[in-house]
Amino acid sequence: MRISLPLLSTAVGLGLTAAVLGTGPAATAAAPQEPVRAAQLGYQPSAGSSGEDAAANRAFFEAVVKSVAEKRAANPSAAAAVTVYYSATNAPSFRSQISRSAQIWNSSVSNVRLAESSSGADFAYYEGNDSRGSYASTNGHGSGYIFLDYRQNQQYDSTRVTAHETGHVLGLPDHYSGPCSELMSGGGPGPSCTNPYPNSTERSRVNQLWANGFQAALDKALEKASQR
Ligand SMILES: [Zn+2]
Repeated sequence: MRISLPLLSTAVGLGLTAAVLGTGPAATAAAPQEPVRAAQLGYQPSAGSSGEDAAANRAFFEAVVKSVAEKRAANPSAAAAVTVYYSATNAPSFRSQISRSAQIWNSSVSNVRLAESSSGADFAYYEGNDSRGSYASTNGHGSGYIFLDYRQNQQYDSTRVTAHETGHVLGLPDHYSGPCSELMSGGGPGPSCTNPYPNSTERSRVNQLWANGFQAALDKALEKASQR
């Protein structure tokens, strides 16, 4: 589940930012910086919202691409395959699901790969308790993170939850009305759905995003570097 954008932007307008955002991933000791905008992509639709938020999805994907692109601009001789680095340090209970999710994605798509890194990761996983469930979000300062909620990961297949949220990192939006064979339908098909694999449409979409979306982000980062 997640808070809808209109609710948050109203709250920001009223100066209630801190109060609203105080319900964020503060459940963990190592919580990321508080988000300035509500780019949250959950696992289940929340009451009273379609739960499918194109703007949040774009903001999150852009944050991840920008992080990868800036590193490549600083090191243009790096290998051609795009690697997105993650940190699992702050989600120790989900190490095996995170690693499985990375394997699933790495065997499903060819234009981008996921790898763990102990420092300078492009995004990080966190764990804790949150009534909104698990979600992917940006912190508003250009970095993305994934929050994994304990209770939701007991109710739903934990590898599917993790692979779904990781799908957001790779640029996929929610599609809760889809079937269980679709990874981004998330909690839509109910807790009995345990499929952790993206379908062929989802695979091609990620390959497309990382063929075109990344190049655009890289060009932007290179332009910035040449102006220094
Ligand atoms: Zn989602």
